[in-house]
Amino acid sequence: MQADDPSLQVAQWFREAESVVILTGAGMSAESGIPTFRDAQNGLWSQFDPLRLASAAAYRDDKALVWGWYVWRMAMVRQAQPHAGHRALAQLAALKPGMTVVTQNVDDLHERAGSADAIHLHGNLFASRCFACARPAGDVGIPTCAVSEPTLRLPPPRCTHCDGHIRPGVVWFGEPLPETSWQQAVERAHGCDLLLAVGTSGVVYPAASLPGIARARGARVVEINPVATDLSCKADAVWRTTAGEGLSKLFAALTTE
Ligand code: NAD
Ligand code: ZN
Repeated sequence: MQADDPSLQVAQWFREAESVVILTGAGMSAESGIPTFRDAQNGLWSQFDPLRLASAAAYRDDKALVWGWYVWRMAMVRQAQPHAGHRALAQLAALKPGMTVVTQNVDDLHERAGSADAIHLHGNLFASRCFACARPAGDVGIPTCAVSEPTLRLPPPRCTHCDGHIRPGVVWFGEPLPETSWQQAVERAHGCDLLLAVGTSGVVYPAASLPGIARARGARVVEINPVATDLSCKADAVWRTTAGEGLSKLFAALTTE
C-alpha cells in the first residue's frame, strides 16, 4: 500500500463498520462535468455572485436572472451522466445494507447511478415549487439552448393554483434545511461507525457538522478530496484522490481479495 493510497486501510474500516455514512458535496459531481461552488479555477462562485443568485432576496429582486441561472444548471445536470464513483457507491451499499448516502448536492446523479435513498440536505434542482404557496410545480420545461447560456434571462413559470412565481427546489442561503432530511442525517451520523466525506469543502453548515457529530460518538472519519479542507484536520485518514478514483478503488479493494 502506498502512503497516498489508503484504500486498504479504508476498506478494512468499511468491513469492520456496521453502519456507514457517505457525505457527499459538489466535488462528487465534478467528474460528471458539474462545476463545484468554491474551486478557484472553475467553481461557480468564481464566475457568479452567490448573493445575486442563491437567496430569496435575490429572487425577489430579479426573478428572470435567478430562474435563468437555475434553468441553465438544470440543463447541465440533464446532460451529465453519473461517473464510476457514483456507481461504486451504489455497489458499496449492496455490500453494506447499513450504509446511507447523505448529499449536499441538488443534482440527481446519485439516484441515476442506483442510490435511490440518498438523503438530500439542500433540496433538489428538479423539485421546483411555488414561491408563494409552496405547491410543487411539476415539469417546468427546460429549453435545450439553456445549457450554453448561464446568463440566459428567463421569467419563471407561474403557479397553476395561485399564479405565484415558480422557484427552484433548492435550499438558498439563509433558508433552513428540510427538517426530516436533516433529522435523518443527524441520526445516521450519530449511529455510524465510519463516515466518508467525499468532495466537500466542509464550510457550509450545518451539513459540515456531520463528520464532527459522527466522530464525537466514536466513528472513524475519512476525507476523500484532492485538496486539504476544513475537515482534513478532523479526519482519521485523508485520501488525496478524486471521488471517481477513490470510491472505485475502495470497491475494488473490498471485492478483489
Ligand atoms: P464546494 O464547492 O464548497 O467544495 C467542493 C469540494 O470538492 C472542494 O473541497 C474540492 O476540492 C472538492 N473536489 C473538486 N473536485 C473533486 C473531485 N473530482 N473529487 C473529490 N472532490 C473534489 O462544495 P460543497 O462542500 O458541496 O458546498 C456545499 C454547496 O454546494 C451545497 O450547498 C451544494 O448544494 C452546492 N453545490 C451543489 C452542486 C451539485 O448539486 N452538483 C454543484 C455545486 C454546488
Ligand atoms: Zn402557488
